[in-house]
Amino acid sequence: MTNTIAIVGRPNVGKSTLFNRLVGERKAIMDNQSGVTRDRHYGYGDWTGKYFTVIDTGGYVVGSDDVFEEGIRRQVKLAIDEATVVLFLVDLDAGLHPLDEEFAEVLRRYGNKKPIYLVGNKADSAQRVQSVGEFYSLGIGIGDIFTISSQTGSGTGDLLDAVVSHF
Ligand code: GDP
Ligand code: MG
Repeated sequence: MTNTIAIVGRPNVGKSTLFNRLVGERKAIMDNQSGVTRDRHYGYGDWTGKYFTVIDTGGYVVGSDDVFEEGIRRQVKLAIDEATVVLFLVDLDAGLHPLDEEFAEVLRRYGNKKPIYLVGNKADSAQRVQSVGEFYSLGIGIGDIFTISSQTGSGTGDLLDAVVSHF
């Protein structure tokens, strides 16, 4: 079986941006229109000689009630089923969001058999890196929270080092 990294999290935290960075090509659909169904996208990448599949989740209809309960549950279940490692992405710029709590709750319920890393994205400034503290209240993730910028790529090397240690 291929080693698989699943990226989960609420809309707009930067899942597709991270996906594109990890696979090195623009394979995910980045559509900011609301009401558009976003399916999961699969891409392929490698790090230090280890090859992996990346799943960009988010197969719910943005702007509908589906983004809550059912959408989250479905996204998490599919990610847990298919993933070797789960990256739970949050947005350091926006801060802790109620939907982050919902994801954390569902991940805690279904994800206890897979390694989950909590990843603070949009760490583009020292100020944002400092805002990571409040996310520890989510009570999920192995070790420290990784802080990355999917846009610039900073921090993604350290994250990948940790991820591929499970492969
Ligand atoms: P998704 O809905 O979780 O897939 O999020 P997207 O990847 O579509 O990103 C949502 C928005 O956040 C877009 O405008 C991205 O350009 C922006 N974004 C993603 N990563 C970063 C980052 O590291 N820093 C900053 N400043 N913006 C980011
Ligand atoms: Mg997306």
